[in-house]
Amino acid sequence: MTFASLDLNLEGPQRAHGEDDERVPISALQHYVYCPRQCALIHVEQTWEENLYTLRGRRAHERVELPEGIIREGVRVEYALPLWSERLGLVGRADVVEFPNDVPYPVEHKVGPRRARHADEVQLCAQALCLEEMLGVPVPEGALFYRASRRRREVVFTPKLRAEVERVVREVRALLRQKKLPPPVADARCRDCSLIESCLPFVPQALAALREQGGRP
Ligand code: SF4
Repeated sequence: MTFASLDLNLEGPQRAHGEDDERVPISALQHYVYCPRQCALIHVEQTWEENLYTLRGRRAHERVELPEGIIREGVRVEYALPLWSERLGLVGRADVVEFPNDVPYPVEHKVGPRRARHADEVQLCAQALCLEEMLGVPVPEGALFYRASRRRREVVFTPKLRAEVERVVREVRALLRQKKLPPPVADARCRDCSLIESCLPFVPQALAALREQGGRP
């Protein structure tokens, strides 16, 4: 099979999902795995704050958002490729998809903290599931490209990771429907989170401690 024979249909999803099946942004999966409250703040309450990671991330994505595919060292490369899955009700965009030997190979550019790495893997695997459905070919692996180290980390899309993606899609869809804010995780993740000022994750703990000491919050 050649790349040209892959049906790279960029017209978008062909049928609308029903009311029970709202589309989930692929990025919401990454946010949810990092912290369910972060996912709800961004995708339900439309809260967004910049921090060092989000600023760097935006710049990194702007750099990879080139309009047309190119041939690089004999390999076809597509940038900012629209993605979707009818089966999972997912929509999003891949930073980069390479096609070595005509096998799609998604590469997601990241600037985030180490703590977000598993969330990054879930996001990348969701991209692979979309590519498999769109192109009708297996996508066995991809890579996360970390700008700070300029290293790629290969990610194999194991059955376990694929099953996790499907579970997370269901949980995110339920969260978006419920429109309820989950409790804060209030742990080390918060230090790297741009939403800490809006979220105030340690306030409930502080109030509880005050109550225990007999103080009035
Ligand atoms: S500050 Fe902490 S609890 Fe709040 S959204 Fe960020 S990671 Fe989640």
